[in-house]
Amino acid sequence: MADHDVAIIGGGIHGVGVAQAASIRGYKTILIEQYDELAQGTSSRSSKLIHGGLRYLEQFNFSLVRECLLERSYLLENAPHLVKLKPVYIPVYKDSKRSPWMIRAGLSMYALLGNLASDARFKKIPKSKWCDLHNLNVNNLQAVYQYYEAQTDDRLLTQAVMSSAQAYGAELMLNTKVSAIQLQDNYSTITCRTAGQQDKIITSTTIINAAGPWVAKVLDQVQPKQKTLDIDLVQGAHIVLPLRLGEVIFYLESPDDKRPVFVMPWYGDTMIGTTESLFTKDPGDTTPLDKEVEYLQRAFSHHFPTYNKQQSVIKHQFSGLRVLPSGSDAANQRSRETIYLRDRKTKPRLLSIFGGKLTSYRATSEQVMCYLQESLPEPQPHTETKYLKLK
Ligand SMILES: Cc1cc2nc3c(=O)[nH]c(=O)nc-3n(C[C@H](O)[C@H](O)[C@H](O)COP(=O)(O)OP(=O)(O)OC[C@H]3O[C@@H](n4cnc5c(N)ncnc54)[C@H](O)[C@@H]3O)c2cc1C
Repeated sequence: MADHDVAIIGGGIHGVGVAQAASIRGYKTILIEQYDELAQGTSSRSSKLIHGGLRYLEQFNFSLVRECLLERSYLLENAPHLVKLKPVYIPVYKDSKRSPWMIRAGLSMYALLGNLASDARFKKIPKSKWCDLHNLNVNNLQAVYQYYEAQTDDRLLTQAVMSSAQAYGAELMLNTKVSAIQLQDNYSTITCRTAGQQDKIITSTTIINAAGPWVAKVLDQVQPKQKTLDIDLVQGAHIVLPLRLGEVIFYLESPDDKRPVFVMPWYGDTMIGTTESLFTKDPGDTTPLDKEVEYLQRAFSHHFPTYNKQQSVIKHQFSGLRVLPSGSDAANQRSRETIYLRDRKTKPRLLSIFGGKLTSYRATSEQVMCYLQESLPEPQPHTETKYLKLK
């Protein structure tokens, strides 16, 4: 018999989400993370938005937007200390990619999909109030819309979900790197090593590969050899400037290529992101490129020209990696759907998570449990994760 029902590789938001969903069902669950803290990969390097993804409406991805807005509502309810609604301003200039009516149509659809109360819907900011918008550039400004999105601290959210999983008995092994996986009929084995110790073997009925940008590397360590997916790692950078614009978010267009750029409050400073650059090195080596930093600085000074050079000195910068289906399209045009790859359709032993969003980690984790259902014993009666409060 295996020591565990569910073994998870990766202590990012997806790994901890699955740990919570598995442990609440009474499964013997273990999570293995290579670093000495949780959320050292993408899950502390995101844009920190818990959002429906307004721009996915342009790809007609209504179900993704609907799911994310629903997940946002659960998080606002279950973790109000970690997930907070903030006003988002969308300025529309004469040369903006989208006209005021397009923004209005998108926001109307967004409110409809989110079943939002009237005070959480959008409004148009009258011209007389533009002077209150933290020195936003008003040259050629045609309209400003305001709606709401939620912001979180992704690292703290990941830790809180893991604490919830631990409260239901999940085990956490930090500082432990997985180097091999052997799939067998009754149970599978994971070879891993905690820093400074010898190799250890862990046995489990099911294994979840939640290794984020390392997902293909982990899949490569599996015996017998598994099929994989063609993916690109796409780097997104953020910079933090030592200035305060208020507790509001700006949803802007880069003057260079009209890509979306967010300007957000971050612990008393201002965070700006993000970029999209194809990444081909080791996922542990992600770092903002000079051209990405300059791109973000240009987007900020274009929209907020009155801030001086000293206020725009970078205090901190970081980057993270999106896992996207490979292709020649611009990264922001590619599917954001999460892909679940199983070693076999019936009674899967291994499931790898490709892509996904911070916002929908809980829905993703529930979907993983659905796929594993027939590989695992009957779950214990349990509360649903959507009702679990996070501490
Ligand atoms: C720039 C950027 C901005 C984003 N902004 C948003 C946003 O605003 N809102 C939103 O909803 N989503 C956003 N996302 C998406 C979201 O951040 C990611 O989907 C999510 O964080 C991925 O989590 P994960 O658990 O899959 O991966 P990760 O957080 O990367 O976790 C994987 C973990 O696996 C561990 N690991 C890897 N290999 C091994 C091994 N061999 N042994 C042990 N451990 C291992 C790693 O150390 C890591 O901790 C953004 C993504 C990026 C890149």
